[in-house]
Amino acid sequence: MAKKQFKAESKRLLDLMINSIYTHQEIFLRELLSNASDAIDKLAYLSLTDQNVGLSREDFAIDIHVDKKMGLLTISDNGIGMDKEEMEQNLGTIAKSGSLQFKQALDQKDADVDIIGQFGVGFYSAFMVADTVTVLSKKYGSDEANLWQSAGADGYTISPAEKTTVGTDVILKLKADTEDEKYSRFLEQYELQSLVKKYSDYIRYPIRMEVERSRPKAGTEESEEPEYETYTELSTLNSMVPLWQRAKKDVTDEEYETFYRDKFFDYEKPLAKIHLSVEGAVTYKALLYIPARAPYDFYTKDYKKGLQLYSSGVMIMEHCEDLIPDHFRFVRGVVDTQDLSLNISREMLQHDRQLKLICTNLEKKIKQELLRLQKDQREDYEKFFAAFGRQLKYGLVSDYGMHKDALQDLLLFWSAKQGKLVTLGEYVDAMGEDQKHIYYAAGESRSRLSQLPQYEKLQQKGYDVLFMTEEVDEFIPQTLMNYREKDFRSLLTDDLDLATEDEKKAAEQTAEEWKDVIAFLEKTLEGKIKKAEISTQLGSHPVCLVPEGGMSFEMEKYFRRVNPEMAVPVEKVLQVNPEHHALQALRALLPENEEKAAGYAKVLYAQGLILADLPIEDAAAYTDLVCGLM
Ligand code: ADP
Repeated sequence: MAKKQFKAESKRLLDLMINSIYTHQEIFLRELLSNASDAIDKLAYLSLTDQNVGLSREDFAIDIHVDKKMGLLTISDNGIGMDKEEMEQNLGTIAKSGSLQFKQALDQKDADVDIIGQFGVGFYSAFMVADTVTVLSKKYGSDEANLWQSAGADGYTISPAEKTTVGTDVILKLKADTEDEKYSRFLEQYELQSLVKKYSDYIRYPIRMEVERSRPKAGTEESEEPEYETYTELSTLNSMVPLWQRAKKDVTDEEYETFYRDKFFDYEKPLAKIHLSVEGAVTYKALLYIPARAPYDFYTKDYKKGLQLYSSGVMIMEHCEDLIPDHFRFVRGVVDTQDLSLNISREMLQHDRQLKLICTNLEKKIKQELLRLQKDQREDYEKFFAAFGRQLKYGLVSDYGMHKDALQDLLLFWSAKQGKLVTLGEYVDAMGEDQKHIYYAAGESRSRLSQLPQYEKLQQKGYDVLFMTEEVDEFIPQTLMNYREKDFRSLLTDDLDLATEDEKKAAEQTAEEWKDVIAFLEKTLEGKIKKAEISTQLGSHPVCLVPEGGMSFEMEKYFRRVNPEMAVPVEKVLQVNPEHHALQALRALLPENEEKAAGYAKVLYAQGLILADLPIEDAAAYTDLVCGLM
């Protein structure tokens, strides 16, 4: 029979498998059992609407069979099966784009066993332990069976075969034992039993095997020394009942963790779990996890959000997006509900009203859990926030701030005064009687922001300032407008509203006295600034540049990067400090030497640019100017 070649990519992957780069070869069993379970899921799903299947939930099973003499290990299922084309498609090619990523991941670090399943290349792991892999399968609804066989990278054959029942047998001819590797252990009852427990305990169908046991021989008298005999019995190796179906009190922390790691391929333990059993308008069970770190693709398009959706023990959808709002897309977990109308197609399912109800419900529970973490396990919460805080912020500013009530209490910002992350609530609680607003400053780094002249003034007053250094931060005060009735004031764009009535009056008078200087500055710096003004908020600094109208310089920079065409230049206002000797020098000089005074004005403007972290337009001219004045 003519041998067919594997597709190039599959072949390379197979080589990797055969040369067995993994230390945990045992996971091949998990992969094959999980494939068997998936195949049963598919037929079980069909059986809900198709009377002809003739099997009910209890009839489905996966059998493990051992032939020690021949060195054969067989995994049989009565799932959906494969026809010839599907064997060709599914076993001869790695169709998924995931395989490429898989190889990249392999190149990156020491191959981690748990990434195999993640990339949909599980079947090939059989070649880690087997010389020859044979698949005998009969598809549901078809009369013919086929035999697929391969002894490794040089290709495979498919031929017609006999099989009475629908389903698939995967038969492994194990490799011969070597010094380092005892492949024959995969024929040992104890080894197989413990591997199933370890990796496949939650498979929802019985995984059965003939197990050898011993019992006292019949007929031996109780008084006599009992004689034992061995016998075999078909036993179910896995506990089957999914974790989420069990009562909370019966599940140990370790079980929760193992389940999470196995199911969601995370090597770190989750920060929190939410186990729910809800009855009411909609009845469901859910087991959700808050991961401790973001998956490598979390902030890319490749990341698939969604919870696994089960109904009556059958998996309906791997990533059901409608179960989880976007801003909580980092949550992993499972939802099991019987309330779904299953006779509609899977696509239709997405619009099911029940799902919306569950989603709203879960959103509340997740928020509660996060708030609990924030309060009781601050360190964990900060870890969570470092991984997913950005997602929460995006969530808050998206959809015109529709989700702000759900999210505002979950945010953390850097408190300049306390030197740590605080919530908006904590900031407001710590405000003194006299402080009217929530002050914040957005920019590239905390060290930069702490040098702002405006910050100095607030420090003197004993006010705290939130330092916002992520790109999206800037849009948060804009979206929230206020928090607990305190409005946000940006150090960089707004009137800080610090002056008392008396101070305001005094400032007006000062402005009057400095009218000529202001007019001179505006004339000299025409085209560079929109206007100049006197400020009493500058502390020890001579000048600062502030943007006019709600936008900030940071926003302008952001838009310039993201969409240059949309970027509108932000107009600058030069604020000057009349108390500062540099300004007083300029004022004194003005009547005597206008040219030199103009030089001073330009230098002051340049200092404003530097403080605002804006580029000096003509650096050479600026240096000449300074040197000329020296
Ligand atoms: P994955 O299971 O992640 O899709 P695999 O390489 O493990 O990747 O399997 C490839 C495909 O082969 C499966 O998606 C499935 O369509 C098919 N397959 C594997 N094992 C079985 C089985 N026991 N019964 C039916 N189809 C199977």
